[in-house]
Amino acid sequence: MQPLYPFACFECQVTFQRAARISSNDYSAWLSVSERNHVCPNCGHALAFMGRNFRSPNRQSNKQWRAVRYLWESGFRYVGSGSHGAPALPESLSAARQFVADHPDHVQKACPPQRWNESITPRYTTSVRSGAVNG
Ligand SMILES: [Zn+2]
Repeated sequence: MQPLYPFACFECQVTFQRAARISSNDYSAWLSVSERNHVCPNCGHALAFMGRNFRSPNRQSNKQWRAVRYLWESGFRYVGSGSHGAPALPESLSAARQFVADHPDHVQKACPPQRWNESITPRYTTSVRSGAVNG
């Protein structure tokens, strides 16, 4: 059985547990990029790989989801064992903006910046995407 990792859809504000590795069963706390692509079963958007320690906000928690999306787009992933000693990722958008500015070398900034609206897999179709918000 493959270990499962959290993948989020920022449109539907839900998280799914999916396999991230193709051949390895190594459940790495520091895995920051999934080897597999998954699509949201609700809306068809490519899911965002969040890192092992991501805890999904409630679907109705729009503020927390905006912060999560902003951190993800800024390259942060919820990686690590939790004992790295770096400041915890914030839960509000205003705090997240300040956090990203203040911590350019944070240990959990594991990826280059990426736009959610541009994270597209081959199975993704543009027909379900309309009214996308910039920023
Ligand atoms: Zn979705």
